[in-house]
Amino acid sequence: MAPETRPPPDARTVLKDVFGFAAFRDGQEEVVEAVLAGRDVLCVMPTGAGKSLCYQLPAVLRPGLTLVVSPLIALMRDQVDSLRRRGVGAKEVHSLVAPAEQEAALEAAVRGEVRLLFVAPERFRSPRFRERIAVAGVARVAVDEAHCISQWGHDFRPDYRRLGEALGALGRPPVIALTATAPPEVQRDVIEQLGLRDPVRFVRGIVRENLAYEVHRLRGREAKEARLIEILRAEPGAVLVYAATRKNVERIADLCAAHGLPCLRYHAGLAGPEREEAQARFLGAGAPRLVATNAFGMGVDRPDIRCVVHFDVPGSVEAYVQESGRAGRDGLPARGVLLYAPADVHVQRFFLEASHPSREVIEEVFRVLLALGEGRHEQSAREIAAACRVPCPPAAATAALAILDRASLVRRGRRGENRARVTVHAPDGDLFSATPLPPGLSRLLAHLVQRLGVGRPVALDPDALAAERRVTPETVRHGLKRLGELGRIDYQPPFRGRATEVGRLALEPGALEEVDFAALEERRRREEARLDEMLGYASFQACRVQYLLHCFDAPAAEPCGRCDRCRAPGRRRAAGIPEPVLEALLAAVERFDGRYGFRKLAEHLASPGASSVQSGALAHGPTRGRLAGLPVKEVEQYLNQAVAEGWLALEPHRLAGSGRRVHLVGLAERGRARRRGGQP
Ligand code: ADP
Ligand code: MG
Repeated sequence: MAPETRPPPDARTVLKDVFGFAAFRDGQEEVVEAVLAGRDVLCVMPTGAGKSLCYQLPAVLRPGLTLVVSPLIALMRDQVDSLRRRGVGAKEVHSLVAPAEQEAALEAAVRGEVRLLFVAPERFRSPRFRERIAVAGVARVAVDEAHCISQWGHDFRPDYRRLGEALGALGRPPVIALTATAPPEVQRDVIEQLGLRDPVRFVRGIVRENLAYEVHRLRGREAKEARLIEILRAEPGAVLVYAATRKNVERIADLCAAHGLPCLRYHAGLAGPEREEAQARFLGAGAPRLVATNAFGMGVDRPDIRCVVHFDVPGSVEAYVQESGRAGRDGLPARGVLLYAPADVHVQRFFLEASHPSREVIEEVFRVLLALGEGRHEQSAREIAAACRVPCPPAAATAALAILDRASLVRRGRRGENRARVTVHAPDGDLFSATPLPPGLSRLLAHLVQRLGVGRPVALDPDALAAERRVTPETVRHGLKRLGELGRIDYQPPFRGRATEVGRLALEPGALEEVDFAALEERRRREEARLDEMLGYASFQACRVQYLLHCFDAPAAEPCGRCDRCRAPGRRRAAGIPEPVLEALLAAVERFDGRYGFRKLAEHLASPGASSVQSGALAHGPTRGRLAGLPVKEVEQYLNQAVAEGWLALEPHRLAGSGRRVHLVGLAERGRARRRGGQP
């Protein structure tokens, strides 16, 4: 064989020559290197960060077949097309590909003519597919949108659960799992379900670097409203305001308008065209302000949003980071502002209770339905809630009905499918002559008599009647109402809510066993932990970005220098931490490195009599009581400040069982150096 005249291409060469990109984007090169090294990798980066390249490039550079599992045919199509345009052999196998073509693609893979084969997870159900793919031999596997494997993620796909086993059958080639969904429990689930071995975890770009985070702690709603107006007045650029409820959206938009700050509104209660118009106007950069519920989000790519204000605390840090991350896509300075009144906690807890009803509430709602008996019932959630013998807000009844529906015990109808009930009274000579009807009503009544007969209640769809009579539904509804008022008919308008049908299955003894109460409880517990984590953000004393990163188990970073905490002039901060205090903090933290949080360390130092530090390691040691002259709160603040100044680092830690997160304090590099005596 002729000696090599050129070295084999390296990653950068392929990046330029095949993909036509001048440089790697942030994080890509490290991920590519780990994949090239044959490691299992979990890659968490936001949408649009360029995750596909992380497996496409190694697939081009290294021999062998790369199998890409992707949940959406559209995603596969896009990638296969763009790879082919770049001259890379890529094929797809999914339900929209004709069987003969699928077979041809598999055979091409067996012949070694395919570099990347894109498949939907459902493929692994097919024995033929499993057999051919094993023959082809898979050098590495990419699992895209890997959060689909986790039932805690937002689009759980049961077929993803097969992948772990399928990988085993392929001889466990190296796997790269990619997702933009970052919560640690989802990450853990992905690692576990796919059986990743000693995976390299990359969690990047979760928090945008040009964002300055602020929390405004305010007394209540009025103070929040006043602050919002101030912020809007001062901000010439585009602002997106998030509120928790439709009612709040309406209220805030009205308030803004009253202050001469017109504001578009967006929530799920608005008609489709109205919403679309609001979205189009805001995204079209014509309008500077939009207030929305979290229904606004998908496909929001206006780059120049300067500020995202949260009027209400969102339910999770994940939601907060996503929503606030809509600011500053253009890379220019932008703000993420949370308006926080401590009483908001109650509102959030109320939402949580309502959307995750207790077993007691579900049982009670079920009892109410059983008392109504088998059949279809036009009862609003409000009425059902009122019939409950335990406290049950209407929203909780709605959630309970949805749970019972999912367990197939009841079936919930759709809004708008309900019928009106009309009884046409027998014509009464006197009445007719006493009050002659206007011609329109008279014709309608004649039509009803002809259609429905007289004297017995009949279900009627007013919209269908309108179509028959070639008039608008409003005309018919109005006419029916008038005829009712005039005593010519009994008119019961259609039920405006969703009907509930109690099926036979519900009547069987032990029917409620169909409901997975343990899973519901687990879900509720997780939501609570998420909310706690979000509330922790609001009251966190050190760098906001560090807190957010901890929540995603992302690598610790230096304090951001942009958030309100980092910039706070703070009395003590200006003065710096007094030397002896800093000494004591560092000595204590070194001794208990990474084992305790702020509160316990502060008590150990300043209040050795406190009951929580009477036993265990904190009950002893030379630093015990060393700051006894200072209030515990103040020592906690110094600890915060020491984190902000880079002496100490916070390590996220989750308490088993509760899922609640506390931050354990350890020495940061700067603190370690000082303890070694390297630095004054
Ligand atoms: P993700 O999967 O993370 O949402 P994609 O892989 O779909 O993102 O990439 C988003 C876009 O970024 C694509 O159009 C892709 O071509 C482009 N892209 C990826 N890497 C680079 C790069 N290094 N330089 C320039 N553009 C890139
Ligand atoms: Mg992608």
